[in-house]
Amino acid sequence: MLIGKKQLLIGGEWRDASNGQTMPVINPATEDVIAEVASASREDVDAAVAAARAALSGPWGKLSARERGRLVYKLGERLMEQVDEVARLETLHNGKPITESRHIEIPMAAECLLYFAGWADKVGGDTIPVKGTALVYTLREPVGVVAAIVPWNFPLLLAMWKVAPALAMGNTVILKPASQTPLTALALGQLAIDVGFPPGVLNVITGSGGTTGQAIVEHPGIDKIAFTGDTSTGKGIMRTAAETLKHITLELGGKSPNIVFADADLDAAVRGATVGIFYGKGEVCAAGSRLLVDKAIKDQFIGKIAERTRKMVPGDPLDPKTRLGAISSKAQLERVLNYVDIAKREGGSLVAGGSRADIGTGKGYFMQPTVFADVTPAMTIAREEIFGPVLAAIDFVDVDEAIARANDTMYGLAAGVWTRDIKKAHYVASKLQAGTVWVNTYNVYDTAAPFGGYKQSGFGREMGRHAVDYYTQTKTVWVDLS
Ligand code: NAD
Repeated sequence: MLIGKKQLLIGGEWRDASNGQTMPVINPATEDVIAEVASASREDVDAAVAAARAALSGPWGKLSARERGRLVYKLGERLMEQVDEVARLETLHNGKPITESRHIEIPMAAECLLYFAGWADKVGGDTIPVKGTALVYTLREPVGVVAAIVPWNFPLLLAMWKVAPALAMGNTVILKPASQTPLTALALGQLAIDVGFPPGVLNVITGSGGTTGQAIVEHPGIDKIAFTGDTSTGKGIMRTAAETLKHITLELGGKSPNIVFADADLDAAVRGATVGIFYGKGEVCAAGSRLLVDKAIKDQFIGKIAERTRKMVPGDPLDPKTRLGAISSKAQLERVLNYVDIAKREGGSLVAGGSRADIGTGKGYFMQPTVFADVTPAMTIAREEIFGPVLAAIDFVDVDEAIARANDTMYGLAAGVWTRDIKKAHYVASKLQAGTVWVNTYNVYDTAAPFGGYKQSGFGREMGRHAVDYYTQTKTVWVDLS
């Protein structure tokens, strides 16, 4: 399927990059070039910032909070009306199964807009009792121009976690999708025009991280960067953004522990452990990539995991029956295979998968779901984020060791706990250094529940009422009544 040429959305108009540059978009399941998108220059970033700043003081800035909320709601409804088409685009550029795009990711993205639309007219300031004769109150105002820079694993959903609260709170947005997966962000831009957003409120500029992304982070006309991506990229963004003291929120990498105690419902834990690592091909920041298993049940549990994993085979992402799609890019597949080699060299026992897969077409970046047992906490695959379908199983002897091993990482995004003992579950949840803890479940999300990292998994929270705080600033007004 050829999608053709795509332009930048700046100030409500579609246009080529100022220098005419484009970049290809590849379908990782077929290796075909499916689109050419504009690669934005510094001048294009300047133009997007000018459009976004003008929109702040234009008709958008004059809308009441309730009218703004209605528009955001309309965008959510329109996205849901177009779910089949947008889900297909998401699968084509990312390689994820159409079932995930059609029934989970795009509906969640639409719901995110509906949810934050509801907050638009419910965020207000306070009146504050002070000493003396003065009326003191606070106003909650938009931060200004927000740049959302997002990765390729959940291209539209992770964009929406930023775009929806930003718009609902009255900011204007410059959205930069990952260069590998720009198509659904561009589709969102068109939907925003269709439902009547004023020009410049949502700008979508495609391009590389090094040029377009860097120009965004350096730009003095941008007030906030909302970033999801690699931890090292996030650190660079923080350093660069310091020059202009931008607000920033960072959602970064993870190496999340999924802890299985001997008293757990083991069949449920096996399902949870496999979903925890293989959903989204393991290209999930919160993937339960470290399976911590009670030594008492280790052999039995790993046996069950290996058996279930061997039955999972990758397939054509557009086939509704497929549960495991293509790895997002050639570079990512090579990276994942390299970690498999490292794990073998360092003494991990390969109990399932371990190789590139062929779905019968001789094309596409497919990978067998892979499990390593006998992993020690010092091994590379226990420490570094692989961002692919590779599970590292590590054992522990008691609760204290489970907690210590779970926390023995620079990351702190998520964690799972499997036990039938409710006291143990709450105790372990309280000790884990992670922004989200799932008990007897894994990889579940809701727009109302905040999500974000501890430690080097970042800071700030997306979703839920907590997110609203990161898209507003507080003004205190003193009125002398004496
Ligand atoms: P990445 O950091 O390479 O890229 C993310 C985005 O940043 C892309 O749009 C890219 O073009 C842009 N970018 C790259 N260099 C830049 C620069 N110097 N200045 C500005 N922008 C720049 O990450 P990726 O490989 O696309 O995504 C995978 C990573 O994202 C993983 O580490 C994963 O854990 C993380 N992730 C985190 C979460 C979360 O919520 N915490 C969610 C999903 C993914």
